[in-house]
Amino acid sequence: MQNLLDSPIEFLKGVGPQRGDLLKKELGIFTFQDLLHYYPFRYVDKSELNTVRQIPEIEGYVQLKGVLKSVKKSGNGNSRRLTALFSDETGSIELIWFSGVSYIESNLYINRPLLIYGKAKIYGTSWNIAHPEMEYLTNEKSLSKQLQPVYNSTEKLGSKGLHAKGISKLTEVLLEQLKDQFFPDDLPALVVTNSGLLSRNDALREIHFPKSHEVANQARKRLKFDELFYLQMEMLLRKQIGKKRSRSFIFDSVGDIFLDFYKNHLPFELTAAQKRVVKEIRGDFFTGTQMNRLLQGDVGSGKTMVALLTMLIAVGNGYQAALMAPTEILAQQHYHSLEELLQKTPIKISLLTGSSKTAERREIHCGLEDGSVHILVGTHALIEPKVKFLNLGYAVIDEQHRFGVAQRAKLRKKNSLPPHILVMTATPIPRTLALSFYGDLDVSVIDELPPGRKPIKTVHYRESQRLRVLGFIKEQIDQGRQIYFVYPLIQESETLDYQNLMQGYESIVRHFPLPDYRVAIVHGQMKGEDKDFEMARFVRGEAQIMVATTVIEVGVNVPNASVMVIESSERFGLAQLHQLRGRVGRGSEQSFCILMTGDKLSNEGKKRLKTMCETNDGFIIAEVDMEIRGPGDIMGTQQSGLIDLKIADLARDGSILTEARNQAIAILEQDQDLIQPEHQMLRERIKQIMKSKPDWSRVS
Ligand code: ADP
Ligand code: MG
Repeated sequence: MQNLLDSPIEFLKGVGPQRGDLLKKELGIFTFQDLLHYYPFRYVDKSELNTVRQIPEIEGYVQLKGVLKSVKKSGNGNSRRLTALFSDETGSIELIWFSGVSYIESNLYINRPLLIYGKAKIYGTSWNIAHPEMEYLTNEKSLSKQLQPVYNSTEKLGSKGLHAKGISKLTEVLLEQLKDQFFPDDLPALVVTNSGLLSRNDALREIHFPKSHEVANQARKRLKFDELFYLQMEMLLRKQIGKKRSRSFIFDSVGDIFLDFYKNHLPFELTAAQKRVVKEIRGDFFTGTQMNRLLQGDVGSGKTMVALLTMLIAVGNGYQAALMAPTEILAQQHYHSLEELLQKTPIKISLLTGSSKTAERREIHCGLEDGSVHILVGTHALIEPKVKFLNLGYAVIDEQHRFGVAQRAKLRKKNSLPPHILVMTATPIPRTLALSFYGDLDVSVIDELPPGRKPIKTVHYRESQRLRVLGFIKEQIDQGRQIYFVYPLIQESETLDYQNLMQGYESIVRHFPLPDYRVAIVHGQMKGEDKDFEMARFVRGEAQIMVATTVIEVGVNVPNASVMVIESSERFGLAQLHQLRGRVGRGSEQSFCILMTGDKLSNEGKKRLKTMCETNDGFIIAEVDMEIRGPGDIMGTQQSGLIDLKIADLARDGSILTEARNQAIAILEQDQDLIQPEHQMLRERIKQIMKSKPDWSRVS
């Protein structure tokens, strides 16, 4: 029986080698089983009959019964089209075809009872339906009672007769062939009852050809639950295995270095949240098991200090520590601020990036190998194989979402035992996502900003209001504040974006001329040293305005900067806007974020801007972002390969996820290794899943 499901898809009646190839290439459907798991994304209800008169109210898909009154062909070549006038008792509507004209024409019959189905659109002042589905009514043929599934298809598949309807034919054939097959439940019976789920057998059938919308929803819920349950089960097991497996170094006291720094050099009182997180990390250091911890904290919440303090614990215990940043600028900034903080201590800190000079690099390599460098700050240059440490015990990865899994794996290999790892992210990750992507990590949260910060005021201005904005900026500069202007720079339209940036720069310089004003500029096409020079002018307060592309997005810290102007802000995603805004509001002055846009905005664009103006809360922003963009997009393609969700939607199925996770936890609590007989199917399935994925629990 199992074999039937594994049959290659070309063996299904109506497929064959050519269509089979396409199904594999276009949809990743290789076997009967794959097709069974290729779910429709909606259903059309063909049990209902509409009338022509209702069309303006329905404004969408309609099913009509009537006759064709006339047929007309017009145009030639590419503009050839076919129109027909369709009437029922209530009125008439035009049907229209742009392709396959001759073939369709030969199938049109005047005055023969006809059922049509399609999307009614308004064209000028009258309605029409393009390329409707048609069926002539015979005596025995009446309206279909069932919901018709609609599947995603592609243009290529469509050209081989496998548009949505063609695929639905195939699933119909498939389910007919599998009629006598029973799809057993691999969820424990208790879970199915506890969560009120449909059986797997029913769900897999009803999802394709449901009896009603209600049953369709139950089937969807069951299949979503399956996906999320296994995902959580996998995460929990990996965490469990990771805990057992990875021994790491024990830092058994906080050490004098930490204590000295804490007492004598700490520039401010830690927030309660920072204290709590340092404590959590310290707890991990004592255990002898490798720490794999995610530190979430909104922009400006003070993650860097947590990183420093915990690195000092490692150093105090005789180990080296590394801090890895995603960009050169950020690495430099970390280096400079840490170096300043450590000035009066014996700690030696070095910076290693792609642009470190050869001689310098050699010196750093030596220092790392003989142990005279205690803390290394850098970009991914620091995980290259030739960088060897005497005794790396702890690595902090800042802004983790930009690093891939493979890079983390390299970090682990830097010592005989894997070093402790702290991953810091300012991208507030919605809970559902955190549970799914990082279910195998421990999570700490800094949920509090340092005291004295005033919430940033965010406003949206259109191009026509620019003079007002510039006037406001002048006031701010005259009060001693500094300003960012950020321009989008997006790969595809790089030249154009570059021109916009330079034009913007020139007009700003005209508006804020020397000698009273100085404007710095940083963008991706500049040489590293020029960037540093310009950045430094701004950091030191010599330039009042910084014109930049998103290279300054992450981490840059100039507390005196109080206004962030984001140009063409409709082109940025929410997460990015929030990151950029986080560059201001770091001092005690009231800060502002000004979102400039053109006059025309898409609905999505409007929603993003509205969200930004309404809230400073990174978690709310992350939720909205996920709703708009979908989860895969947020985490980047690299990570999304690890999670393959066909039907569950992390953005919308939060409650099913929580339920699934709780059930998974309950099972593991009473049967940690899934050895009880009622968990046997479950264990088999999990084994398969874990085998098919890269072993990434070991690399986080
Ligand atoms: P992020 O979490 O975004 O990396 P940073 O570590 O860059 O934030 O900290 C933002 C700013 O807040 C820095 O200027 C830092 O010195 C300051 N800061 C951090 N913690 C505190 C605190 N407890 N009290 C006052 N200022 C703090
Ligand atoms: Mg930071």
